[in-house]
Amino acid sequence: MSTEGVIYRVAGPVVTATGISPRMYDVVHVGNEQLMGEVIKIVGDYSIIQVYEDTSGIKPGEPVTNTGLPLIAELGPGLLTSVYDGIQRPLPVLRDKMGDFIFRGVTAPGLDREKKWEFTPVAKKGDEIEAGQVLGTVMEGTMLHKIMVPPTIKKGKIDEIKSGSFTVEETIAVIDGKDVMMMQKWPVRVPRPVHEKYQPDVPLVTGLRVLDTMFPLAKGGAAAIPGAFGTGKTVTQQSLAKYSDAQVVVYIGCGERGNEMTEVLTEFPELVDPKTGQSLMNRTVLIANTSNMPVAAREASVYTGMTIAEYYRDMGYDVALMADSTSRWAEAMREISSRLEEMPGEEGYPAYLSGRLSEFYERASHAKALSGEDGSISVIGAVSPAGGDLSEPVTQNTLRIVRVFWALDTKLRERRHFPTINWLTSYTMYDQQLSGWFKQNVAQDFPELKAWAMQVLQKESELQEIVQMVGSDSLPDEQKITLEVAKMIREVYLQQNAYHPVDCYCPLSRQYTMMKLIKKYSDLANKALAAGVAVDKIAYIPARQRFVQAKYEENIDSELEAVSKDFDTQFAGLGV
Ligand code: ADP
Ligand code: MG
Repeated sequence: MSTEGVIYRVAGPVVTATGISPRMYDVVHVGNEQLMGEVIKIVGDYSIIQVYEDTSGIKPGEPVTNTGLPLIAELGPGLLTSVYDGIQRPLPVLRDKMGDFIFRGVTAPGLDREKKWEFTPVAKKGDEIEAGQVLGTVMEGTMLHKIMVPPTIKKGKIDEIKSGSFTVEETIAVIDGKDVMMMQKWPVRVPRPVHEKYQPDVPLVTGLRVLDTMFPLAKGGAAAIPGAFGTGKTVTQQSLAKYSDAQVVVYIGCGERGNEMTEVLTEFPELVDPKTGQSLMNRTVLIANTSNMPVAAREASVYTGMTIAEYYRDMGYDVALMADSTSRWAEAMREISSRLEEMPGEEGYPAYLSGRLSEFYERASHAKALSGEDGSISVIGAVSPAGGDLSEPVTQNTLRIVRVFWALDTKLRERRHFPTINWLTSYTMYDQQLSGWFKQNVAQDFPELKAWAMQVLQKESELQEIVQMVGSDSLPDEQKITLEVAKMIREVYLQQNAYHPVDCYCPLSRQYTMMKLIKKYSDLANKALAAGVAVDKIAYIPARQRFVQAKYEENIDSELEAVSKDFDTQFAGLGV
């Protein structure tokens, strides 16, 4: 079998070669500069290759070499804090080598080869061991990194296991005569195996009231955030990265405009982890592909990110993976597909768009890993449909797969209602599965309160149609009160300022307290109305203003208590 061939044709990121007889998805080196690429189609002797680097100037006749290996990610200590491009080349290292521009044919390994890590064995000589089981641990910053038996060893007996300081390539154990190092490699397009997948039944707690209370995502589930430009996709993803109760964050900045990505690259390292007070990067892996980087690397980036996420899930961690934006990823697929002259599907996207999207989201998982630990990957994909048109194929296909939909709304943005998550069109299909958890861990009546609040909001939207036609004066008094309660839910509860030091994160216990208070107001208001108090008086009781302000106060919890007392005394003042 030949591994050396030549270029036959170049079409943008797609190069056709002859003479290499590869397998699908083999990694090849293309041209005199040995650009990295991947075989994505084979027709007779023609191998069609997507190249991860700029192909300008590459000519037919130049050499092509098949490595015979698939595209892999390097997995081991040192992933956290890293910033990679789509094929796991460390961007800071590349930048040091070449300045700000990414030159072609430059390789740099995903994991540092020099750095030593203190390895502490947990398995011992003579142990019978299987793929995925834990051999030992390393402190990766503040995270306990578990070194697992590489997948290349199905099972075996430990001949020797070491303790001490090693690089990722040095031998830390010998299993059935085979040297084992800390680094393992995994083909990024293949999901890592687990013992068993579970139904997700624990929420990913985000501290965002509208998400946690109204539209919760389960740990191990997948959510989509579609929204037009400027509606808050990136801000929401970053809030989740900062505040959600995932232990590891993989953030894939995918194909957004260069300056937006630069913001992510400069801002992310400055973000402080509210749990530790240290840099958020300590538990984050950042994958960055701007729109000016080659599209093929963008296509690969989501798989690279997912593989890294699976590796930490396999250690037993809860991982949150954000992809911002999956639309740019889909556009990369579209561009490559058109170069292949494939029959286009809807809006020029390839027919396999939906297949690729579901393969990606299906790697979200709550699982018992081969290590024996329970871990999860929650996937949150931003979707940026042109002009906010949710009927386009990427949004529609995504919605068929994910079970949580957080719809960002341009109208809410215009009203400066943040986060702009539309409470009428968004949904979660995890309600049933999670209600037990919420009852046990927040309050028995939490799901009930949430259902009540959603009903009030629904009612408001119905009433608003009437108000628009005939004005609010014509509404019966109790409906006027419903509108007041709905306004309170929107202003106090749903609106949340991502930039405010107190309001940015709201623990579940406080979400419950706030919702209880709104319910209390509603009950007292209806009682007052029944006692003949005028709607105006009920609507304008002074405690309402205090309630709106409370969420910005340093002493928010005592403020909320005070609001509750104020409600009692002020409604008593109205004779209730
Ligand atoms: P997108 O990624 O959808 O294009 P961004 O996430 O960059 O939009 O958000 C655009 C702007 O909207 C932000 O710069 C910010 O001013 C505002 N914004 C979005 N979400 C919030 C929020 N939760 N709280 C306050 N401001 C927000
Ligand atoms: Mg954005």
